[in-house]
Amino acid sequence: MHFGPLIAMLVAGIGLAFVFGALAHRLRVSPLVGYLLAGVVVGPFTPGFVADQQLANELAEIGVILLMFGVGLHFSLKDLLSVKAIAVPGAVVQITVATLMGMGLGWVLGWTPMAGLVFGLALSVASTVVLLRALHERRLMETERGRIAVGWLIVEDLAMVLALVVIPAVAGALKGGDGAAGPFGLGLAWVLLVTLGKVAAFVAVMLIAGRRVIPWLLHWVAHTGSRELFRLAVLAIALGVAFGAAALFGVSFALGAFFAGMILNESPLSQRAAEETLPLRDAFAVLFFVSVGMLFDPSILVRAPLALAATLAIILAGKSLAAWLIVRAFGRSSGTALTIAASLAQIGEFSFILAGLGVGMGILPTIGQDLILAGAILSILVNPLLFTLLFRIVPVEEVVATPNAAPETEAPALEPTTLTNHTVLVGYGRVGSVIGAGLKESGAPFLVIEDRAAPLQAARTDGAEVLFGNAADPQVLEAANLAAAQRLIVVIPDAFEAGQVVEQARAANPALEILARAHSDAGAEHLHDCGATGTVMSEQVIAHALLRLVRGEAAAVRN
Ligand code: AMP
Repeated sequence: MHFGPLIAMLVAGIGLAFVFGALAHRLRVSPLVGYLLAGVVVGPFTPGFVADQQLANELAEIGVILLMFGVGLHFSLKDLLSVKAIAVPGAVVQITVATLMGMGLGWVLGWTPMAGLVFGLALSVASTVVLLRALHERRLMETERGRIAVGWLIVEDLAMVLALVVIPAVAGALKGGDGAAGPFGLGLAWVLLVTLGKVAAFVAVMLIAGRRVIPWLLHWVAHTGSRELFRLAVLAIALGVAFGAAALFGVSFALGAFFAGMILNESPLSQRAAEETLPLRDAFAVLFFVSVGMLFDPSILVRAPLALAATLAIILAGKSLAAWLIVRAFGRSSGTALTIAASLAQIGEFSFILAGLGVGMGILPTIGQDLILAGAILSILVNPLLFTLLFRIVPVEEVVATPNAAPETEAPALEPTTLTNHTVLVGYGRVGSVIGAGLKESGAPFLVIEDRAAPLQAARTDGAEVLFGNAADPQVLEAANLAAAQRLIVVIPDAFEAGQVVEQARAANPALEILARAHSDAGAEHLHDCGATGTVMSEQVIAHALLRLVRGEAAAVRN
């Protein structure tokens, strides 16, 4: 049987990531640790099978494209512009501070200023994958702080696109002028201008032509009635635009994909359908962590422990502190500032590219690259801990709403309820809000758990006590005082998450009445296994209601 390196990489990468991820889950640490470890195992610094690093990087890049596409789907141009006042200066100042710190360390280590510059820049950019995962996992993407973090990321991304063209030009000019067109200053200005012009051209093409052509194309495909074709079209658009952005306009893959997603954001139907195609993204994002793990050379821990500690201090403390100060200076709440700081306290793919470029051009000593790689893996490992710490701090902190901030999109403190004998309602969407209205009418005390701002506000208006957050999170559930509750109604669409909620609730209160919504027989069975008292399968209810219409037993209602 013959197989190539791609199959070996995919099988080893995904297989081991699963095994180590599951192990990490069992040990109650972040699955990221497992994925990174899987990478170390298939990497060149440990004995046994060695996967193809180049392939791993390319697969990880596809993960970045799909992730950014997914983010774009939830982002409108308006969202992006609404955070520019803080994201642009924030990212610029933070990049400057981190770069200066990196240059300082380079100077201490006796490197040239140019080496320090590349090193500092590499430490100044956060990894898209790590940041987005952290935001997704904690459901922060649709909050104001999530938007600021994403806007910040986009600015960093743009800055790196510029850095990647400027560094070779400057290095060329320093070496004797043949790398830059014309005299030093002019050559640099020219390179910058051309790059910015290309970025602007890309954005213009997307906003003018892409905005018309892409939704049109998707709607056309939707009318063919083939789901397969539709999914292919979405993938082709995400990958095609990202590739085109990189090949034609010199823009990063990530930025291209983000714009492709953002354009689809405007047509709700295609957006919803496009989301269906995103499970692929999770698999590829996992491969990103595997590819990072592969780069880790443990010998750096003994070769340069002090330099590594200083590098880590810049990534974890220096960058965070700078981000925190900037966000605070803009009058945002301390919770927002801490979230942004924690999101950015890591480095990843762009840092590797910069380090590779620096070493390739003979600017950066290889120890610099080793420090960047080790700094990346360690900071990615520590990142989930930072968030856990953050979530410990923020609830006790008074979240100060400022005039600029949208207070309703801020996560309020998780205050335990004082209600007893109450009904807890999880999810306040199409299903939950109808139940809420009924509960309100009956005057029964109820508490709603929601992880989106708008439904949460609606619940509050309907007279419910509210908790903002993912109901599957034990801390959130604890605040709902299930031990003293009368009933729990779980009306969220995801059966796995609903199962987690039900299971924890059953453990907290064996006598609790638990009613849940299901969408399949298997889903209903799973919920019963987790401890639900009763389930309602929505599709069956729909079928019966339609049948009643057919039989003339009920009149059609238009809503
Ligand atoms: P619908 O399908 O329209 O009834 O909406 C479901 C609602 O549940 C939406 O408003 C979601 O924001 C909310 N939701 C989904 N998952 C969770 C979760 N894990 N925790 C809290 N709210 C959730």
